[in-house]
Amino acid sequence: MRTPISKDFCYEEFEASIKAEELKIDNSIPSKRIRFAIRLLVLNLLQPLRDKVQRPLILTSGYRSPALNKAVGGVKESQHMKGEAADISCKDAMQVLLLGQIIMRFSIPFDQMILHENFIHLSFKAKGRQRHQIIYDKSYKEAKL
Ligand SMILES: [Zn+2]
Repeated sequence: MRTPISKDFCYEEFEASIKAEELKIDNSIPSKRIRFAIRLLVLNLLQPLRDKVQRPLILTSGYRSPALNKAVGGVKESQHMKGEAADISCKDAMQVLLLGQIIMRFSIPFDQMILHENFIHLSFKAKGRQRHQIIYDKSYKEAKL
């Protein structure tokens, strides 16, 4: 079943996780509040970015239940557990940079953007002000651009 959020995104993409399947962890979205946060993330950030990029954005991590977050070594207060963050797969650091630049150029709102070697972590806060933080992960800094 596909439950659409926007033109190009659905809730099932946020629940899908190879790691959760492997470990038999239930990673279904547990509440309306988290579902709503995901919706805000998509409508304000991911879909506008998708429209500018004009190619599919592949989520490698969307929602994470507390058990899954622990299993993947996520930070304690990870926004993935609130439905406020998604990791977008990229083929290399150059593509990561390009996504970041598009967000900046078109003033697409975001809370945090963390650039990694082969994915970009993007978050949007459901409540309160967006922090507009850009963080470069060690793997990104070490990648050859
Ligand atoms: Zn992330």
